[in-house]
Amino acid sequence: MHDESARTAAMTKHAVVIAGGGPTGLMLAGELALARVDVAIVERRASQDLAGSRAGGLHSRTIEVLDQRGIAERFLSQGRVMQVGGFAMIPLDISDFPTRHNYGLALWQEGIERTLATWVDELAVPIYREHEVTGFAQDDTGVDVELSDGRSLRAKYLVGCDGGRSLIRKKAGIDFPGWDPSISYLIAEVAMTEEPAWGIRRDERGINALGKLEDGKRVRVVLNEPHVRQGDEPTLDDLRAALIAVYGTDFGVHNVAYLSRFTDAARQAASYRERRVLLAGDSAHAHSPAGGQGLNIGVQDAVNLGWKLAQVVNGTSPESLLDTYQAERHPIGARVLKSTMAQTALNRGDERMKALWETMSELLKMDEPRKRYAAMMSGLDIRYDLGTGHPLLGRRMPDLDLVTANGPRRVFTLLHDARPVLLNLGEPGALDIAPWAGRVQRIDARYAGVWELPVLGAVAAPTAVLIRPDGHVAWVGDGTDHGLRDALIIWFGPPNHG
Ligand SMILES: Cc1cc2nc3c(=O)[nH]c(=O)nc-3n(C[C@H](O)[C@H](O)[C@H](O)COP(=O)(O)OP(=O)(O)OC[C@H]3O[C@@H](n4cnc5c(N)ncnc54)[C@H](O)[C@@H]3O)c2cc1C
Repeated sequence: MHDESARTAAMTKHAVVIAGGGPTGLMLAGELALARVDVAIVERRASQDLAGSRAGGLHSRTIEVLDQRGIAERFLSQGRVMQVGGFAMIPLDISDFPTRHNYGLALWQEGIERTLATWVDELAVPIYREHEVTGFAQDDTGVDVELSDGRSLRAKYLVGCDGGRSLIRKKAGIDFPGWDPSISYLIAEVAMTEEPAWGIRRDERGINALGKLEDGKRVRVVLNEPHVRQGDEPTLDDLRAALIAVYGTDFGVHNVAYLSRFTDAARQAASYRERRVLLAGDSAHAHSPAGGQGLNIGVQDAVNLGWKLAQVVNGTSPESLLDTYQAERHPIGARVLKSTMAQTALNRGDERMKALWETMSELLKMDEPRKRYAAMMSGLDIRYDLGTGHPLLGRRMPDLDLVTANGPRRVFTLLHDARPVLLNLGEPGALDIAPWAGRVQRIDARYAGVWELPVLGAVAAPTAVLIRPDGHVAWVGDGTDHGLRDALIIWFGPPNHG
């Protein structure tokens, strides 16, 4: 016992250690740092440099989530605002949606990661770069996290944001059930001596695309392979063979700056938590990139988990609050897996699938289906099951223009510190939350406009709303405080006495 405490005392301690500083790990670190949790990231890479392009941008809800922290502009100023949504390449326009960000953002993953890393750096989160987590052991009070240089870190919680091949998931013994690949793709950045067949070509297996890289000369290749292959290290010969199989020529491909492979394998962690070890992002769900969802839902996992983990670490909420992370985010991951599988099937270009794709295109031109699918792909329709009641309950709080005693305020600016807000739109001074003072901000405000939600349209104006740090509505007032105390206890811990 004595030896044990001497050993842990010698270790570097953090309240939370995050394995992996990709988009999910960085976002989670920012959320925890805002809640004043001592958090550190362990990241294998030396910097945010990424080989290849990976994710191509952000959907509306992710931009909203960043706006809730006051950092959306940093991303918007670097990328191209456009309608990015689609289902199996059938475009889905959201320009008529009731959100300030009724669009997506085209911005490569490296730019997204760099911008998140700058934010995390401003929040003074230490990153152990060029270090790998090689293992861990958890006990009743914490986790010993082993690093590749032989050192250990001691943490209360370890979060695996270490991608699809997650070591944390494997070592925690968490199953990763799902579906083996039905197709594999090569993705590459190359030079070609001949003019390639630019654009998208659909064949019996799926999509192929040849596009100009930013320098206007080199080529970004996405190409399905004649046979399903797995493994990370395809060769130039594999690329040539796949080009010839699709185009009848390899266009004189040479000078390969980047070559990788991805598949449509779809798997999801059976559990997002094993006692003091949690999973978020690709470590919890891996699937085809169709529809551009992975990075987006990883960032949103982080925003769901961050404040909950902070409250548990800070002792304001019981550990059971963490169960709501799995309850809320697992169904979202499952839905994404299903939609990528449907899109992969629709992307197959044989005559029957083409007929189905055309049928689906016709359907998605109709207003109601278009709105429903667009809201799903943009993440704007997410509703956590917080019981029945007002349509706002469990949904994202809209970014209303409020009038407060301190002048005009947007709802999202009230969430910049990642602290919960009780927005009182009724009699100023109503709704006493003194026992939660210091934890929940009470803002008296007026709002005269319509309350409109994506897909649902106008909803009845509430007299108050309790907004969680992730922007989801935890309680809706109807002129009384009925249910408010229970909601405060469930989400923000028992009341302070004295
Ligand atoms: C071709 C392609 C196109 C895509 N397009 C899109 C798109 O348009 N939109 C979209 O939303 N998503 C897209 N994705 C998916 C997106 O890239 C991922 O979902 C996203 O990167 C997941 O982020 P993450 O932080 O969870 O995991 P990762 O990005 O995989 O980050 C994991 C991090 O952990 C580090 N790491 C791993 N193991 C360890 C360890 N043991 N110790 C320390 N560090 C470790 C890694 O170095 C890495 O930095 C695409 C993916 C591919 C392959």
